[in-house]
Amino acid sequence: MKKIQMVDLNGQYQDIKDQVNDSIATILETSAFINGADVKAFQKELETYLGVKHVIPCGNGTDALQIAMMGLGLKPGDEVITADFTFAATVEVIALLKLTPVLVDVDADTFNIDIAAIEKAITPKTKAIVPVHLFGQCANMDSIMELAEKHNLYVIEDNAQAIGANYTFKNGAKQKAGTIGHVGSTSFFPSKNLGCYGDGGAIFTNDDDLAHTLRGMVNHGMYVRYHHDVIGVNSRLDSIQAAVLRAKLPKLDAYCQARRDAAKKYSMAFEGQEHIVVPKTTNGCDGICETCDCHVFHQYTLKITNGKRDALVEHFKEKGIPCGVYYPIPLHRQKAYLDERYKEEDFPVTNQLVQEVISLPMHTQLDDEQINFITATVIDFVND
Ligand SMILES: *Cc1c(COP(=O)(O)O)cnc(C)c1O
Repeated sequence: MKKIQMVDLNGQYQDIKDQVNDSIATILETSAFINGADVKAFQKELETYLGVKHVIPCGNGTDALQIAMMGLGLKPGDEVITADFTFAATVEVIALLKLTPVLVDVDADTFNIDIAAIEKAITPKTKAIVPVHLFGQCANMDSIMELAEKHNLYVIEDNAQAIGANYTFKNGAKQKAGTIGHVGSTSFFPSKNLGCYGDGGAIFTNDDDLAHTLRGMVNHGMYVRYHHDVIGVNSRLDSIQAAVLRAKLPKLDAYCQARRDAAKKYSMAFEGQEHIVVPKTTNGCDGICETCDCHVFHQYTLKITNGKRDALVEHFKEKGIPCGVYYPIPLHRQKAYLDERYKEEDFPVTNQLVQEVISLPMHTQLDDEQINFITATVIDFVND
């Protein structure tokens, strides 16, 4: 059996090697390292793929979130509601901008922000909601957009983990993750579903004025060279990363499908297991539905409900199976984000998830032998 990896970047590289190497060689010869032709071309290609009017490339997914919030004109003291169960970048930029983060609990089935918890947290100071499309599927955007409209709030989608996912609205219409709210952000960190070979990110919006503001903000607030109209930052996607992304973007749907195929095999193997809960999608199809494209499985995350999660992590080490615990500590208990407003009883789901979740190897190159070995190892150990 091939050695099992958590992510397999080399396998993907072998497939696009000639194109990537040629594009990088051209960039080296022309020295157009920043804002070269590949960056502009990638921007257009991603706009077309996503069906969104504006893509603003930037330095990484954390910057993308921060710049989106700056572009919306959020001010110190404004409250921004986001999920307690996510990567810290989301809450980090809220705090950095001196906005007030308001963490709320998530849904036990989808791991995404809980709608009732959002509603409960809205105050007259609330200005925005940041749903994180965790592990590869959208939060409940029907309800979030409804709440936002009712309370006049911005919606900023943190789409670092769900690029390529479709969201299916209640009326059956579909839209790409990250293009539904007022603004969306993503990350091209190497291990993300569309990853480059360094850092990279992008912001998406259908709002022409906001797009203009954001394009200047990523480049020192300049709209005309050496004229600084607003305070900006330096956050650019470089040409080499754009060239890598241009080679990968046409394959993104196939990458997503390969992940879904692996997820389907995992879920089928775990069917009927009492102590193993497989990931649910918002369409309720357990990740084994043939036609569903709402989940792109950035992670395939199980819940181990009989208290053996930590022991399983240790057992995996002995068996040579990599795994991840995303995330082991709720944000409301992280030292940097402690706040006396938070009460433990407000986070029952997150507090339980951090003890039960385990993410299995998930990438586009997993083969059946590996999947069978992983699922058999989990089932044997959990029932032992
Ligand atoms: C990866 C990630 C980010 C940050 O992206 P970087 O490119 O690493 O800055 C933000 N939010 C979520 C949910 C992520 O998974």
